[in-house]
Amino acid sequence: MNDQSRDGASGRVGQVKEVTSLANPIIKDIKALSQKKARDESRSFIAEGLKLVIDALDLGWTIRTLIYAKTAKEKPAVQQAAARAVARGALVLEVSEKVLVSLTRRDNPQSVVGVFEQRFLPLAACRPKLEETYVALDRVRDPGNLGTIIRTADAAGAAGVILVGETTDPYALETVRATMGSVFAVPVARATAAEFVAWHRATRAQVVATHLAGAKDYREIDYRGHPVVLLMGNEQAGLPDDLAADADALARIPQAGRADSLNLAIATGLMLFEARRHLLTLERRR
Ligand code: SAM
Repeated sequence: MNDQSRDGASGRVGQVKEVTSLANPIIKDIKALSQKKARDESRSFIAEGLKLVIDALDLGWTIRTLIYAKTAKEKPAVQQAAARAVARGALVLEVSEKVLVSLTRRDNPQSVVGVFEQRFLPLAACRPKLEETYVALDRVRDPGNLGTIIRTADAAGAAGVILVGETTDPYALETVRATMGSVFAVPVARATAAEFVAWHRATRAQVVATHLAGAKDYREIDYRGHPVVLLMGNEQAGLPDDLAADADALARIPQAGRADSLNLAIATGLMLFEARRHLLTLERRR
């Protein structure tokens, strides 16, 4: 490993370490972030792509390491991102294509990768306000579903996502990829089922649970006048009876055809855009 100093075209980049060896211990540590255990222990995760890294820096996320491909080192946007990362005390690594391939497990990796600190919003800090919508996911298992839901929650202007019970990790590489950057925009909280029920009692929020046996057409529920929490069931088992019984309404999305149910992320998308229909216009963006 060599240390270099460089003056970027658009800002001074200080300590940049050049790494070409897969055996480098820093690279090994970053690679280990593909495992949940290492992510939990270090409370960090990987996000790929220059745009994502810039968005995360803009939103004030703490960056620990910024890695860029040697082939991208002359790009002003890369130099700028590296300078910002250095200014925030992050380690900056200039690496070979081979190292990036191994970090991201992709044949055509992005030229910039960031290692960020995880953030979970304490459930008590979720204080739903009028016109706010939260999504609560009971034991969501599939990383692609969770990532897509976080992205869709962002697009619909939801205030946050609450993970209820044992769920897949929102900071897994596959989940972060599926969020397309929305992981940095949507607060995520965690709760046990009992904590969720207690939180519901303590808030003025209306919990609308979705259930295949729901008595109400989801389009006939009044989502105005109070904050709304859309509670979605597990992919295989659906919503357990205790959570369904605690909800203020049980909604069903009418279906035709032979499919038993909708995919969880699709059902969540339909619910979100219906619950926020009166708040979404082509003109209004957050
Ligand atoms: N076998 C599961 C069951 O019996 O509930 C199917 C679960 S479904 C794949 C995952 C979740 O998506 C459900 O728990 C529910 O929250 C939501 N969902 C899917 N289709 C729905 C529908 N037609 N109406 C209401 N919710 C639906």
